[in-house]
Amino acid sequence: MRIIGITGGIGSGKTTASENLKCRGLHVIDADRIGHEIMQPGMPVLIELAMVFGGDILDDNGVLNRKKLAEAAFADPQNKKMLDSITHKEIFEEIRRRMDILSDQGVKIVFLDAALLFETGLENTCEQTWLIDAEDKIRIKRAMDRDGSTRDQVLARLKNQMSSEEKRKRASHIIDNSGDLEQLYKQLDVLISGLEKL
Ligand code: ATP
Repeated sequence: MRIIGITGGIGSGKTTASENLKCRGLHVIDADRIGHEIMQPGMPVLIELAMVFGGDILDDNGVLNRKKLAEAAFADPQNKKMLDSITHKEIFEEIRRRMDILSDQGVKIVFLDAALLFETGLENTCEQTWLIDAEDKIRIKRAMDRDGSTRDQVLARLKNQMSSEEKRKRASHIIDNSGDLEQLYKQLDVLISGLEKL
């Protein structure tokens, strides 16, 4: 099965592009959603995290206290590495399980939507990597409008991400989402046709 990675920084339009791909009947695995699902109460990764970072990262109902986990993980770079290795392993395994199911169903192409495609090494599983990008000021405005966040809140998240410049160097294909939705979808048309020809 062919795997195409979709990535981009905050507010770049990954979700919008992925929704469009799904509307075309294409298959998209959302790595960020899996990251959220594995942290739900009762999931095995929470038990592992509680063993490493202490039981008080979970409340009495087994719900993760993200603030406490972040405090523990960011206290020391080794802790952050440990957190990433535990969660990424679980996310990778779940992605693999979902891909195996799709492959068994005869699906030929799957898109992997992952904000951290390059940072986590998931890019290595991909035949192509499509970077959705737009000028910073457009991404910031779209993220503020979408989340009701302040400019400073969006900037704080942006600052923690790999730069667009670095992502542009690593991506095999760049989709400029500075324009309207029609322009975004037209670029997807071209890339999808290219895939079908290969
Ligand atoms: P994040 O990583 O922050 O979750 P994302 O890359 O998934 O972001 P989206 O949620 O798809 O980005 O897009 C951000 C916002 O911008 C959304 O509200 C979306 O509807 C809007 N948007 C995306 N592309 C366009 C466009 N071409 N024109 C206008 N609005 C757009």
